[in-house]
Amino acid sequence: MSAPLPAPASRLPNVGTTIFSVMSALATEHGAVNLGQGFPDFDCDPALVDAVTQAMQAGHNQYPPMPGAPALRQAMAAKMQALYGLACNPDTEITITAGATQAILTAVLAVVHPGDEVIVLEPCYDSYVPNIELAGGVAVRVPLTPGTFRPDFDRIAAALSPRTRAIIVNSPHNPSGTVWTEADMLHLQELMAPTHVLLISDEVYEHMVFDGQVHQSVARFPALARRAFIVSSFGKTYHVTGWKVGTVVAPAPLTAEFRKVHQFNVFTVNTPMQHALATYMGNPAPYRELPAFYQRKRDLFREGLAGTRFRLLPGEGTYFQCVDISRLAVPERELPESDFCQWLTREIGVAAIPLSAFYGNGFDQRVVRFCFAKKDDTLREALTRLSRL
Ligand code: PMP
Ligand code: GLN
Repeated sequence: MSAPLPAPASRLPNVGTTIFSVMSALATEHGAVNLGQGFPDFDCDPALVDAVTQAMQAGHNQYPPMPGAPALRQAMAAKMQALYGLACNPDTEITITAGATQAILTAVLAVVHPGDEVIVLEPCYDSYVPNIELAGGVAVRVPLTPGTFRPDFDRIAAALSPRTRAIIVNSPHNPSGTVWTEADMLHLQELMAPTHVLLISDEVYEHMVFDGQVHQSVARFPALARRAFIVSSFGKTYHVTGWKVGTVVAPAPLTAEFRKVHQFNVFTVNTPMQHALATYMGNPAPYRELPAFYQRKRDLFREGLAGTRFRLLPGEGTYFQCVDISRLAVPERELPESDFCQWLTREIGVAAIPLSAFYGNGFDQRVVRFCFAKKDDTLREALTRLSRL
């Protein structure tokens, strides 16, 4: 082949491979127990797989309607009403997406104009800021309260400006496991009331809330829902992260703009999975049982770590557990979080994710994140290895 052209000027000059891919590759290379990237190591309900097969055999193999299979949008509308009391029209207010990642990018591209500001609360999921930059927007990073990761509404209020187009929130929160309370939501609602700022609410861990707490979906707050894109992901709820199917619920005018981008970005999402999910959603038991399912794993993991020098941070929701490493006996506790995670993977055989990866400036607070969406045996093996610390 003749000499290639020079590399094009990058649209995302500061972006490399995501920390999740990097740590998973390192875990594989070193045979480590992978508690880094967030995904279950157990299978989904076989009935869900059967439902996909049946959908294929029934001939659901061509393009569905652009906004998603009607049966799945209807099932989603029924769920939003039953769980959160939100009446939404499946024809004009619900769109099926290729997972939450595409949903968030599409929402950002649909509403953010060049020069608009979008507030993100750090630490935040790694796709948000590149999404904003691809739209030509400016990410305004507001820290969650150090130590507790609770929203700091004074700082959020101070970050609002006439150029603010949207704010992205995420509860239950990746990576910290914090869950916003009703008071938090009311505070946000009050803050946004005098503005036209839009809300992108990343609720992919909506069914992983523990200790009797309730998921305070934006859908429960009409004054927030009228300005919001509410993002969910079947991948998290049904143990099928590789399927990449999610939903966006938004008022009709927002959905109309969302679909203009969606139709030229993925156009449609795989048909048989949508039919299978619609059938499977007829039974609410799987998502109603999810909090107890993951709470037990959280407790198993936390009890195992209690005997180590890791200091456990609270874990109110999600399938992540954060720990402070500053009291470990090993000299490696002095390493930056990301080097520590590499060391832990190579030398102890357990992969984790550094919190610094969720900050634009690489803020290092001696905290790393483990994923406990694993078989009990996997968690026990990881705990045995970590008990050396
Ligand atoms: N938001 C958050 C907070 C996440 O943790 C994830 C999962 N990786 C996503 C969005 C993306 O979800 P999906 O796999 O459905 O694209
Ligand atoms: N959301 C998952 C996590 O936080 C990873 C998804 C991904 O690899 N992009 O671990």
